[in-house]
Amino acid sequence: MPGFEWLGREEKEAVVDVMDRGVLFRYEFAEKRGDAWRVRQFEEAFAAYAGAKHALAVTSGSAALKVALCALGVGPGDEVITQGFTFVATWEAILDCGAEPVFCEIDDTLCMDPADLEKKITPRTRCIVPVHMMGAPADIGRIKAVADAHGVPVLEDTAQAAGCFLNGRHMGTFGKVGTFSFDAVKTLTTGEGGMVITDDADLWRRASEYHDHGHDHRPVGRGNEGRNFFGFNFRMMELQGAIGLAQLAKMPAMVQTYQKHKNAMLEALGQVPGLSPRRVADRSGDAATFVSWFLPDAQAAARFNKSLADSGCGAVPWGVNTWHSYPNWEQLHAGATPIASGWPFKRPGGADLRFGPADLPNTKELLGRCLSWQIMLNWDDAKIEAMRQAVAKAAKEL
Ligand SMILES: *Cc1c(COP(=O)(O)O)cnc(C)c1O
Repeated sequence: MPGFEWLGREEKEAVVDVMDRGVLFRYEFAEKRGDAWRVRQFEEAFAAYAGAKHALAVTSGSAALKVALCALGVGPGDEVITQGFTFVATWEAILDCGAEPVFCEIDDTLCMDPADLEKKITPRTRCIVPVHMMGAPADIGRIKAVADAHGVPVLEDTAQAAGCFLNGRHMGTFGKVGTFSFDAVKTLTTGEGGMVITDDADLWRRASEYHDHGHDHRPVGRGNEGRNFFGFNFRMMELQGAIGLAQLAKMPAMVQTYQKHKNAMLEALGQVPGLSPRRVADRSGDAATFVSWFLPDAQAAARFNKSLADSGCGAVPWGVNTWHSYPNWEQLHAGATPIASGWPFKRPGGADLRFGPADLPNTKELLGRCLSWQIMLNWDDAKIEAMRQAVAKAAKEL
């Protein structure tokens, strides 16, 4: 999913323009900046691209999750359900709010399993956070139906799915709020950065104020004296806003390129008996940053990947990956924290939070036989041909 491949002249000129104006801060200094508000413009352009009414740029995708959860009112005593296949930031943000993450199985979408979600809901569930992994959607219709039946808001962690649409609608707009990451390896990158989108004006204002020390942001912008509540600082800077605008303009061409490369890979993989691709509901809306497939079992996945690796085309073996999968998050299972009291795993006046490595057997089983390739924008025909040949060779050795 790396937009860094296409960082170029456009981003460079946008950065130089900000430097020439001499204002790095997103608010105030109207005269000095010559009325150029890059972060605000990036918010408006991103909201238009995604089809949301409001957007708030922040410092990272992790910050976007934290700000959105706070704006939803999530805190101690609340449970937040998310999935056992995501980046650690999703549950770190939940813990950082003082709430308790509850982990849900994934299904063959590689995202939240709506049937398991139903089982994990309790009277304390305050938010549901499906994660659209690797550029493609969760089964958001069914997830939304379960959430609506229980009156619980959905926050879509869309960090990995900028540019992904389901039946013409951008991911992150199905739930109450959507969050994005623009970190160094995401499709749209500003180095570090993130975005919160919502159609709810009050939620947007709470998020906007919280991300700026609680400063009053009514009706829009800043500068009113007074603070409505405590907050923090998650403000994006103008340099990032300028880069974001330039990157956003490249999104349609990036997605088109990813789709072209991914289709070539799916075609090659489609020749291999016993191999099934990840379920993607709407191929035409796929952001296509990864191609993922299942083998019949973990041994076959290891054999297949050994052969791919011997050809210089190794895939991500999710069974052993420690970044994204619940069974391999040692720090979570150990309840490891730098905080002396043991927070957030030890809770004053409450039971300790414990997360057993064997708690999500379906997720472990599915990821154990799943392989993915990250699709690169700059693959040329020779590279794609080499990948094709690697697949054909691996198929023979299966
Ligand atoms: C990247 C990512 C994040 C965090 O984004 P940062 O900008 O790196 O803080 C959150 N959730 C998921 C699913 C991610 O992939």
